[in-house]
Amino acid sequence: MARASARKVRERAREVTARLAEEYPGTAHDLCALRHKSPFELLVATILSAQSTDERVNMETPDLFAEFPTPEALAAAPLEHVEKLIYSTGFYRAKSRSLVGMARALVEDFGGEVPQALEDLTTLPGVGRKTANVVRSVDFDLPGFPVDTHVGRLVRRLGLSDQKDPEKVEAEVTAMVPEQEWGTLSVRLILHGRRVCPARAPRCTECLLADICPSADLPVGPPA
Ligand code: SF4
Repeated sequence: MARASARKVRERAREVTARLAEEYPGTAHDLCALRHKSPFELLVATILSAQSTDERVNMETPDLFAEFPTPEALAAAPLEHVEKLIYSTGFYRAKSRSLVGMARALVEDFGGEVPQALEDLTTLPGVGRKTANVVRSVDFDLPGFPVDTHVGRLVRRLGLSDQKDPEKVEAEVTAMVPEQEWGTLSVRLILHGRRVCPARAPRCTECLLADICPSADLPVGPPA
């Protein structure tokens, strides 16, 4: 697809942001599908959501949060027990190590509180930019544009970025969209990706973005 001018891409980014806001109203917190009652629980749920589904994570977290409701409790948890509780989310050994390590770091480095700064959040085991930006935008109402596979795919199909590296996608999109929209735009792109624009079979005839999307009705390549 031909690369549009920077001005046209910026205008399209603003239009996509406005249309998705109408289609999926609410705050990033309202729209977040991971059930949680605190930034600590959201951190845990987001770590568990890697290579899993939100539905699966929501099935497992109530028991986990009941047994280990605080960073202090999770920091002292036996790894094998955590592994059993989160087994069905996949990659349970690595995730258990991340969860307990993250809780220990919260206790040792941040007084048991979830920090708000991106550079602090990303020091926690198992927490990369995506997870840090989820917590910032959903629970702290701070600027953050999490880029997962849905967001990356939609952004590329919509011609807002041609980057594959999530950090570069984040940099390009956040340069075009006001920072108060970053978190909600990300979660709305995820919802739209799941409902209308999945990897294998986008339903362009049902899509409210079809008239401005450079990929509308194009043949779909390998899943992005
Ligand atoms: S028009 Fe098609 S490819 Fe573009 S965002 Fe909508 S569903 Fe996806």
